[in-house]
Amino acid sequence: MKKLADIGLIGLAVMGENLVLNMESKGYTVAVYNRTVEKVDKFVNGRGAGKNFIGAHSIEELVASLEKPRKVMMLVKAGKPVDDFIELLIPHLEPGDIIIDGGNSHFPDSIRRTKYVESKGLLFIGTGVSGGEEGALKGPSMMPGGSPAAWPAVKEIFQSVAAKVEDGSPCCDWVGEDGAGHFVKMVHNGIEYGDMQIINEAYHVMKELLGMSADEMHEVFKVWNTQELDSYLTEITRDILAFKDEDGEPLVEKILDTAGQKGTGKWTGVTALDLGIPLTLIGESVFSRCLSAQKDLRVQASKVISGPKVEFKGDKAQMIEDLKMALFGAKIISYAQGYNLMMEAAKEFNWNLNYGGIALMWRGGCIIRSAFLADIKKAFDVNPELPNLLLAPYFKEKVETAQAGWRRVCAAALTNGIPVPALTSALCYFDGFRSERLPANLLQAQRDYFGAHTYERVDKPRGEFFHTNWTGRG
Ligand code: NAP
Repeated sequence: MKKLADIGLIGLAVMGENLVLNMESKGYTVAVYNRTVEKVDKFVNGRGAGKNFIGAHSIEELVASLEKPRKVMMLVKAGKPVDDFIELLIPHLEPGDIIIDGGNSHFPDSIRRTKYVESKGLLFIGTGVSGGEEGALKGPSMMPGGSPAAWPAVKEIFQSVAAKVEDGSPCCDWVGEDGAGHFVKMVHNGIEYGDMQIINEAYHVMKELLGMSADEMHEVFKVWNTQELDSYLTEITRDILAFKDEDGEPLVEKILDTAGQKGTGKWTGVTALDLGIPLTLIGESVFSRCLSAQKDLRVQASKVISGPKVEFKGDKAQMIEDLKMALFGAKIISYAQGYNLMMEAAKEFNWNLNYGGIALMWRGGCIIRSAFLADIKKAFDVNPELPNLLLAPYFKEKVETAQAGWRRVCAAALTNGIPVPALTSALCYFDGFRSERLPANLLQAQRDYFGAHTYERVDKPRGEFFHTNWTGRG
């Protein structure tokens, strides 16, 4: 009898093809199917030739070629196609079979789909897959959530295809119930926006304030990539700055300054607003992309509105060192805010999130991979109940050390009119977070003045509310 497949995959576009090639290379037999069926034979006889693939030309054939419990993974366009395939699969599956969505789905959809699929007696996994097409082929970071009972059946396959860190640990572990996997992937993407934005701000300061060339900046990023800021994004920035166009000039300077976005940063920001979490650095990163996209308006404004004359009188080497501290400090804040969001979501949606495990999942295979994530894992190993990353002794000390240089960078940039919204908003969050008293007492008085919203008093027990007739009028 023909061998049955260990797992099935629907969606032979870049991600699907690469992920099944990765699975096959680890010894698994994979059955493959695609809406446009010609692509099945094209793949099986092309990139998949001579390998352990079973080409299926219908959903029935796909399901019939799978070992039980059947595991069917979709890597199709997020949105309606995922729901459509779930509907097509359900009549052919049996209790205990597992439907897996590996696309970039929004977490509320994964919450809904888990409930729906479970109501049909089946199991569901919504998994974040990060690292792009190369990651899918060579080892992505994978963040699965959904029906907990499904995890033991897919754990071995997922962990064997996932990226590995130096000690061999896979960048894939169970994240939590229903939409938790896609939620964590969303926060990952938000953090990616933040990490990119702070690097961009450092580049802007180096270029505009310090007058550095792309080659000089390349040298700085080269050094930074061997220190605290060692990360994939530091590494690619180093390489981008060294890349020359055909005329020998840096290519980066010829690229139009309007940022694109696919919406996952926005989802993170909107979710933070919904849950009431100050996710300021990621928020500013999304808005910075929006401002960059208003190119025509900016060009118009630049012709009529003037700012300060850019003038740097300080020590250039010191400012470069300060920039490193600014990036490091802001990065700590960004992760502290991202973790704060995940902790609030865990409360809101009843998820048991494994915070240290999440840092490990991001440690390799994905865009935000960095040496720094190992320290986050350690902080949660020491204290799994850590309420905020900034309260971990290691990060508290690092951010305290970083702040002097970070403040100098923000001050110099603001004085010279160079926008550094993520670096400054992160610093303001840090100062707010470490303040016992903020000016919200005045705010409460204002609310009470115009709307009789009442206030609590510092000299009375919490929960006792007061109202004042501020004008003395009746
Ligand atoms: P994609 O372009 O997002 O989707 C193409 C696949 O979806 C094809 O198999 C296509 O089938 C199918 N499809 C499209 N519309 C459909 C519809 N209305 N009904 C049924 N099937 C439909 O492919 P991708 O770039 O490989 O990404 C797959 C998933 O992974 C997406 O959710 C994406 O967001 C996510 N992802 C992508 C990356 C990346 O770097 N590309 C990274 C991480 C995650 P046909 O061949 O018949 O058109």
